[in-house]
Amino acid sequence: VRLEITMSRFWSPIVHSLIPYVAGEQPTAGGITKLNTNESPYGPSPLVLEAISKAASDTLRLYPDPTARELRAAIAESFGIDKDEVFVGNGSDEVLAHTFQALLNHERPLLFPDISYSFYPTYCRLYGIAYQQVPVDAEMRICLDDYRQPCGAIILPNPNAPTGIGLPQDDIESLLKYHPDQVVVIDEAYVDFGGESAVPLVGTYPNLLVIQTLSKSRGLAGLRVGFAVGQRPLIEALERVKDSFNSYPLDRLALAGAVAAWKDRDWFDRHRAMIIASRERLAVALKALGFHVLPSSANFLFARHPNRAGAELTAELRSRGILTRRFSADRISDFLRISIGTDEECDRLLAALGEILH
Ligand code: PMP
Repeated sequence: VRLEITMSRFWSPIVHSLIPYVAGEQPTAGGITKLNTNESPYGPSPLVLEAISKAASDTLRLYPDPTARELRAAIAESFGIDKDEVFVGNGSDEVLAHTFQALLNHERPLLFPDISYSFYPTYCRLYGIAYQQVPVDAEMRICLDDYRQPCGAIILPNPNAPTGIGLPQDDIESLLKYHPDQVVVIDEAYVDFGGESAVPLVGTYPNLLVIQTLSKSRGLAGLRVGFAVGQRPLIEALERVKDSFNSYPLDRLALAGAVAAWKDRDWFDRHRAMIIASRERLAVALKALGFHVLPSSANFLFARHPNRAGAELTAELRSRGILTRRFSADRISDFLRISIGTDEECDRLLAALGEILH
């Protein structure tokens, strides 16, 4: 209905058929407990703020480094790979967009799970990519046997979003072996919260591209920095698309902040451990309230109450100033995706749920 109302004769034909992704709400009012978009509840490393303010006062009149050399070198060093095997972009969303355009458009359809990141079908429509969504099983798990079929390429979030369920590295490796001539993209936006990364497989498998972000485990969603890791031919394809689109992958402040964040390993380890501990505590408490909670390796939980509709729960929480996320797809419409906040925020959520359920 919305599309019909906004059709315009000025639009290029493709715009008529787009169904854009709708980002989670960013409220402008204060006093909200925001558990809806999987940000870190903690600010980034203090070294990030120092680096950004230094870059702001020294060099903002200059264009940024179009090759993002320092950031790519820092990321490459920590993975023991070459900086030419790293591609950076404005959040992993942009890295994903370039990936869809550069690597995932083939004669056969792209495969991805029916329950996964809802940006994937949006990119497919934007770039005219044929795709097939592979159903997750009754427990919402990705069954990799179902991906053993002819296809153009595969993309999987690991851990999956919005379920939070992770796949072991061995399973990813068998998929890479089964499809040596297809690109397999693993979207590891949430891998730092207990998932198994496929990055160590990059050296062995030329068909593997791994995408990560600094938005979640580095507390930098506002800075917009993501990256891909893969062998040269895959990275080169992304560079070609980027250089045909915007030759500066990141601005100077983002580059400076991202380098500082990447190098502050202590901050990273401490805060992800805190989030994992809060997640485990919240999962136990939600189960005690009667929720069915999926096993999560991410910084969120996906949970459903057997006696309450998801829409009702999210509305009740919202009226108490607590935002969670719900998705409209039939199979998951009763689930709440709850981002892990501080323990205090989780307690506020639990108190509200206790009130709503009794
Ligand atoms: N992949 C998945 C699975 C996500 O959930 C998100 C966050 N919405 C992203 C990628 C994009 O994150 P960002 O653009 O902030 O790096």
